[in-house]
Amino acid sequence: MAVTILIPTALRQYAGGQAEMEVEAQTAGEALDRLTSEYADLRKHLYGDGNNLRNFVNVYVNDEDIRHAQRLETPVKAGDTLTIVPSIAGGAMIEEDVATSALQPAHSNEDLSNEEIARYSRHLIMPEVGMQGQRRLKAASVLMIGTGGLGAPLGMYLAAAGVGRLGIVDFDVVDASNLQRQIVHGTRDVGRPKIESARDRLNDINPLIRIETYETRLTSENALELFRDYDIIVDGTDNFPTRYLVNDACVLSGKPNVYGSIFRFEGQASVFWAERGACYRCLYPEPPPPGLVPSCAEGGVLGVLPGIVGTIQANETIKLILGAGEPLINRLLLFDALKMRFRELKLRKDPECPICGENPTIKELIDYEEFCGLRPQPNAATQKEDKLQMQEITATELKERVDRGDDIQIIDVREPHEYDIARLPGTKLIPLAQVVNRMNEIDPNRETVMHCKGGGRSAKAIEALQKAGFAGQLANLKGGITAWSNEVDPGVPKY
Ligand code: ZN
Repeated sequence: MAVTILIPTALRQYAGGQAEMEVEAQTAGEALDRLTSEYADLRKHLYGDGNNLRNFVNVYVNDEDIRHAQRLETPVKAGDTLTIVPSIAGGAMIEEDVATSALQPAHSNEDLSNEEIARYSRHLIMPEVGMQGQRRLKAASVLMIGTGGLGAPLGMYLAAAGVGRLGIVDFDVVDASNLQRQIVHGTRDVGRPKIESARDRLNDINPLIRIETYETRLTSENALELFRDYDIIVDGTDNFPTRYLVNDACVLSGKPNVYGSIFRFEGQASVFWAERGACYRCLYPEPPPPGLVPSCAEGGVLGVLPGIVGTIQANETIKLILGAGEPLINRLLLFDALKMRFRELKLRKDPECPICGENPTIKELIDYEEFCGLRPQPNAATQKEDKLQMQEITATELKERVDRGDDIQIIDVREPHEYDIARLPGTKLIPLAQVVNRMNEIDPNRETVMHCKGGGRSAKAIEALQKAGFAGQLANLKGGITAWSNEVDPGVPKY
């Protein structure tokens, strides 16, 4: 028997698509060495300089986080499971005081009307809720960041449960591609601001609660002020800058952060509350580099998955308000929808945590786009120039030149399942990950246009080919097949 290493979805592309691998090893480090000696690309993603595991990668032996132990020297034995848990767009026993309400006791003195008693009767007859608990729910205020896949079931259940004041922060409008999972919005809402559509639906579910909407992007400038008036913050976002912003603003204002995240078939949930346990930065001090972990728009997500994870967030929120049960504090819940398996990992507050540790270095909100590497640093100017030199062609130009009979080969670097949805005429499919290995299939003597869905992956393909010494002339189709559909042929479906 050997040690089993579980490889998360986001990193499988660097490990030949495998979900798990068995290796013989005496220590965790040795097991990872066996794995990464076979997959050099995976090694680059797991290790930084000096052979240290990167900060956004956590490793568990069975359910123990080995980060604060001897880490890679941690002994492993046959039958152990080693789990790699990178942050995705993701112990102490429960302390006695954890199961107390997140609210000030003064909040819960409001009486219930007869109408409310009738509406909430299935809560009221449960001893864990009762009149006292339902009053607490009525007096509570919850701020939801985002009303997308996670925010949809979350808002609907919190409204139905009678949480007295619900705040919704979102700046997006409803798009047809949202409806596969964002069940708070309907077909007739396409094109409307999400906060309006969500407000109407939640009001319909429960007109007895107050809904406050904020049509704005959550920023370092407005977060602390917005959070001030709420008891609990629920993170339903889909990007790293906002996740770190929500975490830091929660730590600085002492509020619990009910966390959930999703990717394809996998979800994570936890309650980060620095006063009582670990925060998100204790788990992941730094975000992965941009582009490593695809967003839902790039990587896809099973529609029902945010329904499950968002509902878990609603459950945890209600428990915090009631002071009932054991909240997910210091516990990271992992959910795999394909295997239909839940796992739970212990978290510990990191004494070195830059925001909730013993000597915090972050004392106010920072620039989160920059922190997540999404804004070019001044010293990245040279790189930017390289990018500007990349030849581009617009969809309209390409169409004109093809019609004129110019000899152009078009290479599509998307995945086969995307090619099945929509394709340009006369293209050759070579997915981005294979483009360098299959370079010989691209004729360097012909002019070549590379394309993908929106232009990002094809730009990466051109860079990779140029680095690999491809001699021919390469241009990037600006805006990808989406631009083709917009400018040239609306008959090509957009996805
Ligand atoms: Zn922390």
